[in-house]
Amino acid sequence: MATGSICSYCGCGCRLLFVLDPSGKVITKVRPDQGDPASQGSPCVKGLTLHEVLYENRVLHPMVRVSKDGDLKRASWGEALKFVYGKLKTFDPREVFFVPSGKITNEDNYVLQKFARIVFKTNNVDSCCTRLCHAPTVKALTHLTGLGASEGVMDDVFNRDVLLIVGTNPASNYPVLFHRIVNAKRSRGLKVVSIQTVYNETANYADVALTVNPGTEVVLFNAMMGRLIADNHYDPPTEALDGFDGLREVVNQYDLNRASSICGCRITDVEAALMLIGSSKKLGVMHGMGLTQHRNAMSNLYSLFNLMLLKGGLLVSNRGEVNVQGVGDMGCHPDSLPTGPMITGDKLSEEWHVDLPSFQGKTMLEAFLISPVKAAVVSNFNPAQSLPNLDQVHRNLRGMFLVVLESHHSLTSEFADVILPVPSLPERTGSVTTGERRVRPVVRVIDPLGEAKPDWQIICELAELAGHGEFFDYPSEKEIAKEIVRVIPDYKEVDVAKLYSGEDQWANKKPKFARFNPVHFRGLEEDAGGRFPLILVSFRSPHHFLTNEMTSQSKTLSKFPEGPYVYLNVELARKLGVQNGDMVRVTSPVSYVDGEARISPKVPLKIVGMHFHFKSLLFNKLVPTQFDPEVFTPNYKSVPVNVAKLS
Ligand code: SF4
Repeated sequence: MATGSICSYCGCGCRLLFVLDPSGKVITKVRPDQGDPASQGSPCVKGLTLHEVLYENRVLHPMVRVSKDGDLKRASWGEALKFVYGKLKTFDPREVFFVPSGKITNEDNYVLQKFARIVFKTNNVDSCCTRLCHAPTVKALTHLTGLGASEGVMDDVFNRDVLLIVGTNPASNYPVLFHRIVNAKRSRGLKVVSIQTVYNETANYADVALTVNPGTEVVLFNAMMGRLIADNHYDPPTEALDGFDGLREVVNQYDLNRASSICGCRITDVEAALMLIGSSKKLGVMHGMGLTQHRNAMSNLYSLFNLMLLKGGLLVSNRGEVNVQGVGDMGCHPDSLPTGPMITGDKLSEEWHVDLPSFQGKTMLEAFLISPVKAAVVSNFNPAQSLPNLDQVHRNLRGMFLVVLESHHSLTSEFADVILPVPSLPERTGSVTTGERRVRPVVRVIDPLGEAKPDWQIICELAELAGHGEFFDYPSEKEIAKEIVRVIPDYKEVDVAKLYSGEDQWANKKPKFARFNPVHFRGLEEDAGGRFPLILVSFRSPHHFLTNEMTSQSKTLSKFPEGPYVYLNVELARKLGVQNGDMVRVTSPVSYVDGEARISPKVPLKIVGMHFHFKSLLFNKLVPTQFDPEVFTPNYKSVPVNVAKLS
């Protein structure tokens, strides 16, 4: 007996077959689904080992810590929710904060943000996978095309002639997308240009691979566009787009030689990349956190998308968590609503029959780090490990009333005043919207473990306690989905009946317009030198997912020896007298961590690399409070550090 439902991990959103024991209550195995259009029958090892992690490290009962210095104690649902509401109602709308999640369904997220806005009269709502990863992508795309999502789908790699991959490593992070790239290279002659700061597995497959200094991509893209325009190697209709003349004026000021010297790559490699891009008739573009997690994230994104538009190219999707697109689409933002930008507030008021808060909410960086709130309700997110400047974040978490909804214990659990058990994805019903903007049915394979309840149900019970039950009178997830397609313009074509009978649907994928936004290179973010002469860069392992609460439980995945390590260049290690296995201290302007060194020829001389998955080597402790001021996405990719060998 097997039931098909969606993988709990990445934004590729594969459908998997969950095999049950004869009782029909326990998942014993996960198999590929040969008919699944996302995985094409070849999901990755993380998805195929989900049965190893679903029953481990679980939160099974509500837990309450009545006083800050007391212990967490088991409580009934009634006691826990009364305690939560009794505390939350003592704070004013600007003092409370809500965090929805890319790990839960659209229905859960929609209800959560509605609760914040109606019951607590606050727009203090923000989600991790938007803010910490792709807020710059959504903002730049919306500004340039009117569509805050990828226009392309994973299969589009088969109809591209050149694929430009920047700041992402699909070979490690999006395996089913990477399979397509490898197949398209073999069967269609696809050419790949890969631009990255640490040589990676994807670069290995590229026709041209450029390893550039962190944060220098704008100068490279501008110089490339200058040459493309000069050589007439662009899509002629783009001349008519708004901003073309401004773009030409800006990019004319850049040249390839200067770009190659600032970026730290050979001019011959830059020219080889440009030759492929220039000759392309159907350019595909793919990018990731190597571009978005910087202080100059918005410039990075604008310059890449200017290049894409100039070539008449297509953005091909690859993004973080399984419901990464959905959580944003549901209006889980401090500065936009399910109906659209804040100016659509009247429309939403009419729909919900209630007055709504008009002030702009805080981002999660503000709420947990810069100007901390007094209370937070956090669903399936691990701020104690995911945010920058963790020493400060931990102090702030200790000072606030913290309610955590989670399926698996995380580092954040240790700071919680209340922990509420929620199901993992195969224990839920509803939908997710994957990186392609494919809306996929989530089918409940087994009952929620222990006393877990889905987030939407918990929120409806809290709303009832608060006397606002009439706004949250949902008999099932399907009724929430009906409201979603009525309220959210980009979901109006979604057929709820078909979705709930197992058929994929699509949210809107049509851009509304196209225009350029020329940007200049503003210089290096970190001028390596002085006390912190090296740059620390985070990266991901193919066998761990985000902060690892689930993947760390897998016996199969734990056989891959990937860390936690501090990766050093061969020459740097020689200078420091460090050998494989030696302990080193990595120090940044805000903290230090001690870890085991691994020497790697892939890491450039002045770069230090670390995975961010591991609780025992907290990368994020080292990250100062630096972010792009337009979107508050932190700089995780260019952190000034020093490294010393420990005796
Ligand atoms: Fe598919 Fe991503 Fe899950 Fe792997 S982790 S099975 S690529 S959804």
